[in-house]
Amino acid sequence: MEVKVPDIGDFQDVPVIEVLVSAGDEVAEEDPLITLESDKATMEVPSPSAGKVTELKVSVGDRVSEGAVILLLDSVDGHKPSGGGGAEAPPKQEEPEAPAEPAEPAPHADVSVQVAVLGAGPGGYTAAFRAADLGLSVALIDRGEVLGGVCLNVGCIPSKALLHVARVLAEAEELEESGVSFGKPEVDIDKVRSWKESVVGKLTGGLESLAKQRKVQVVRGTGEFTSPNTIQVGDTVVGFEHCIIAAGSEAAMLPDLPDDERIMDSTDALEITDVPERLLVIGGGIIGLEMATVYDALGSKVTVVELLDQLIPGADKDLVRVLEKRIKARYEHIHLGTKVESVTASDDGITVKYGDGEETFDRVLVAVGRRPNGKAIGAGKAGVNVTDRGFIEVDEQMRTNVPHIYAIGDVAGEPMLAHKATHEGALAAEVINGENVSWDARSIPSVAYTDPEIAWTGLTETQAKEQGIEFEISTFPWAASGRALSMGRSEGMTKVIAEPETHRILGAGIVGINAGELIAEMVLAIEAGADAEDVSLTIHPHPTLSETVAFSAELANGTITDIMPKRARTK
Ligand code: NAD
Repeated sequence: MEVKVPDIGDFQDVPVIEVLVSAGDEVAEEDPLITLESDKATMEVPSPSAGKVTELKVSVGDRVSEGAVILLLDSVDGHKPSGGGGAEAPPKQEEPEAPAEPAEPAPHADVSVQVAVLGAGPGGYTAAFRAADLGLSVALIDRGEVLGGVCLNVGCIPSKALLHVARVLAEAEELEESGVSFGKPEVDIDKVRSWKESVVGKLTGGLESLAKQRKVQVVRGTGEFTSPNTIQVGDTVVGFEHCIIAAGSEAAMLPDLPDDERIMDSTDALEITDVPERLLVIGGGIIGLEMATVYDALGSKVTVVELLDQLIPGADKDLVRVLEKRIKARYEHIHLGTKVESVTASDDGITVKYGDGEETFDRVLVAVGRRPNGKAIGAGKAGVNVTDRGFIEVDEQMRTNVPHIYAIGDVAGEPMLAHKATHEGALAAEVINGENVSWDARSIPSVAYTDPEIAWTGLTETQAKEQGIEFEISTFPWAASGRALSMGRSEGMTKVIAEPETHRILGAGIVGINAGELIAEMVLAIEAGADAEDVSLTIHPHPTLSETVAFSAELANGTITDIMPKRARTK
């Protein structure tokens, strides 16, 4: 049978952007064969019949119109091709001379959908909801009892609930300087934990009803691919036309750690089973320092050991220095450039050898990074490539090497951030819906919700130097901000990294309370291609911390000059 391009409306000479089958492939009726892309939409041409592809007649880059022959198909049931007319299928042979290869039966499916989403974290549920809103039938698969993934259940949200408690405790203590003293706080750790859980519960419960409203079928259990079009979830087979892998990541642990409940990953640490007298945090990255902030406020004596010579290695040194100064005064020790040699458990506690000595702690948090879950989903059965580290590589439309399978979020690459995952999830759903969209965000902000917070976006000073990019740095110290002074927190700074000639904003960094909220303005500035003048001529409310963003832009622009000299750096 000749399979031809069906009626595709008024389109002529439309380019073939993908060929989804090869000679020798068995296809089921309606399986996509090729993808065409007009200036308005991408469309897949489905197989009119089940059968075996004997010869391809088109390749990527060819231009086709209605009636063009796509391929020759040895049809199993002798169906005539729909559309394109001109089906000249040979008469079905009653008895083939040679025994034909057994046609692979279309895989059985208990749930059949257009889009299966594997993983219900922020990326996964955003993808599922967007796809459903676009009118596609969707299954959302997750092994957790509740939706929301790591972020909602054991990550971003519970940590922010605890960080709020930490902030209020620290503020109450600091108010002494302003003439108000409270008694020593009494912490009921069980009540703190159940308050945190109630915050999580409100969000995860909300997700269940959002899924229901959209008729997204939630399939609970661990999902693994069994073919390019099926995922096995317990006893249930989910069959799909398109799949979005949103399987996330898990905490990386150090090798050879004793199996002891006093050695925690971030999930355990968020449980706050108790407030240890002495806590060691291994890894001075975002997770380690956020949890250190919580335990310090609750009363633990905290020590941090970091392998590199800087805390939060992705952020610029001058921003980190401000945080370091504050926590050095509060924590027991901060060891930089220090490697942990061994960890042993005894009745006395957890003994850790590092640097020149060894210390015993009541609990140890290991926060040395996260590992993508690409190797745990049977990706090979679907033909999806996974790197040695467990990432799944994708193109600008979030497609993997298998064109109808997409990957988003932590499993699709760094940075492992929920807001990157949600952006990618919506994008993948739109691509599946045939929209001509791709990744084109200019910057992804990062925020460490420590005390003070550190936030940055776009180009960092470190990256600009490494890449030999010409830049100018303008830094506004919060000691000159009325609002920061009146809040008793004037240690912060806001800096902007701009192109020397045009003053176009290339990046920004903020350290100080609420830096995570303040950075959003600079993300928008970079996204919109704004220059420093655009930001400085925007009227900011007075007195607010947001003025520091405007003042840093004024420094870049040259409209104020007397606060801090501009730092220039040329190639
Ligand atoms: P990270 O990579 O940010 O930090 C891990 C730190 O551990 C690094 O500084 C690293 O040098 C150090 N380290 C590694 N091995 C070590 C060793 N043997 N001894 C001592 N130090 C060692 O990882 P993380 O803090 O675990 O966070 C994981 C991911 O989750 C990151 O991608 C992070 O961006 C993301 N995350 C983001 C947020 C947020 O946006 N607020 C919060 C939590 C996690």
